[in-house]
Amino acid sequence: MQRITNDPTSFKDEMIEGFVSAYGRYVKRVPNASGVMAAGSPKRGKVSVVIGGGSGHYPAFCGIVGAGLADGAVMGDIFASPSGEQVYRVTKALDGGAGVLYSYGNYSGDVMHFGMAELRCRREGMDVRTVVVTDDVASAPKGREEERRGIAGDFYVFKVAGAAATRGDDLDSVERLAVRANDATRTMGLAFGGCTLPGQAEPLFTVGAGKMEVGMGIHGEPGIDSSDMLPASGIAELLVERLLDDAPEGAGGRVAVIMNGLGTTKYEELFVIFRDVGRLLGEAGLEVHSPEVGEIVTSLDMAGCSLTLMWLDDELQELHDAPAETPAFSRGGAGLSNGNGTADFETIAPPDEAEDIEASTGETTPGGDAARDGLARALRAVSGAEQELGRLDAVAGDGDHGSGMVRGFRAAVAAADGYGGSAGAVLVRAGAAFSDAAGGASGALYGSAITALGQGLDADGTDAGGFHRAFRDALDAIKHLGGAEVGDKTMVDTLEPFVVAFGGAASGGASRAEAWRAALSAAEVGADSTSDMISALGRASKLGERSRGSRDPGATSMLYVLRAAGEAIPGGGS
Ligand code: ADP
Ligand code: MG
Repeated sequence: MQRITNDPTSFKDEMIEGFVSAYGRYVKRVPNASGVMAAGSPKRGKVSVVIGGGSGHYPAFCGIVGAGLADGAVMGDIFASPSGEQVYRVTKALDGGAGVLYSYGNYSGDVMHFGMAELRCRREGMDVRTVVVTDDVASAPKGREEERRGIAGDFYVFKVAGAAATRGDDLDSVERLAVRANDATRTMGLAFGGCTLPGQAEPLFTVGAGKMEVGMGIHGEPGIDSSDMLPASGIAELLVERLLDDAPEGAGGRVAVIMNGLGTTKYEELFVIFRDVGRLLGEAGLEVHSPEVGEIVTSLDMAGCSLTLMWLDDELQELHDAPAETPAFSRGGAGLSNGNGTADFETIAPPDEAEDIEASTGETTPGGDAARDGLARALRAVSGAEQELGRLDAVAGDGDHGSGMVRGFRAAVAAADGYGGSAGAVLVRAGAAFSDAAGGASGALYGSAITALGQGLDADGTDAGGFHRAFRDALDAIKHLGGAEVGDKTMVDTLEPFVVAFGGAASGGASRAEAWRAALSAAEVGADSTSDMISALGRASKLGERSRGSRDPGATSMLYVLRAAGEAIPGGGS
């Protein structure tokens, strides 16, 4: 697969620059952040709708920012959630004083990073709410709708929220309507061919000749089922049947419809499928309202399609039909330019750019040197294991764990480089840099853990007992943010036994290096134990049994990081 890039590490930035230079009539860049905002925003007294997620899904997410739709989008790396820091910056830029609604697809990385930004903004006195989109019927059974992923149905939730905010609704109302839109929306997808992450030689997954994956995720998460390829009419039947089976409680007789292409499937093919979709919906007694056929949420170069239905009532239909003008989607745009149907808001200047954290002027201590050395060793370890970690993540996840870990530790090392002070000060700064650069679930979790470790070392000292308490704080940070326990097939399965064994050795009088060695043996057993487990959390959890038989990527990277970092302790190394 040939891809067009200059320097792959600046791909996202260059993409945003090109996008904004092409579509400056709709959007502008958020200064000093990975995001875009509608031209003419922020507006005083208007609720802002902020959406976001990984890149690789265009037109989602930046392509649907503009008048009448989303006010801003935060953009992560390919398939990785944006970081909490970037979400925070975009939120600050869009604050018009009436509050901000976050809306995005339900993925643990996005939930963690947007969640951290929401807390931070609330502490500063802003009113921020969140409505996660959960339209993918294949990702969790009926009755457990709140666990479902968000895919092409994102669009309807954003559209309804954006239209409500544009007509002047307050935050309570925008939030309520976004929840209603999500409750009324269902999507089912199919994939016929894999997608290839930039920089990878092999596709994330392959679909056998003559086969299709039913219920495929938009990050290449493997399907729920594999079946024989069907003709267009059979595909239409399967999609319509699955969605009608899952119709929301009290569903009416009118539906808005998106026949979405996932990247490689042509518009012409989608029309052939839609021909039967429209007919089948009509036969089921449904009135099809204003359908869209084309690319709304894609998945790099994946071949496949998804069908989305939003069951309409008069309230949702009015917002669905309201005008919008964005780079990838417009509807009745004249209404916006002449103010018809929209409240009259005054554009205000965004606040000053977010400032970077001050550089330390503190004296470097031996602990600070060891912390920098530990980070550098961790970077070498994850760089060496990048492909392996990616492969483990591709088994049931989205294949980005290796690249995310390398991005994170590279940024952590750069932030710590030449930064004076204690081990604690170095790690606090490195954790923030890690989280910002890595994005994804593991970016939030590792970043918070590194920061908690630093804060703990500053508070508790750096003897074996102090190390143990600081590592316990790091473990608590991960468990608090992600909600995982031992047995859920995550990095906790490596770190918790490490912490317990470290504590046991330290209280028996072991030195830091001795305790670390004892703890590593326990961590190895813990990481190995994840092979037999089924994922209970994160992206991989949607696939249940598929994750059995291979080690969890995060549990594996955690082992490598602990092993490498231990060598930075005087007398350490295994
Ligand atoms: P993403 O899932 O956002 O693509 P990564 O692929 O980088 O992020 O990381 C996946 C790893 O993160 C998993 O293997 C698991 O160890 C860890 N993880 C995911 N969700 C959680 C959670 N809620 N709690 C603890 N660890 C988690
Ligand atoms: Mg992943």
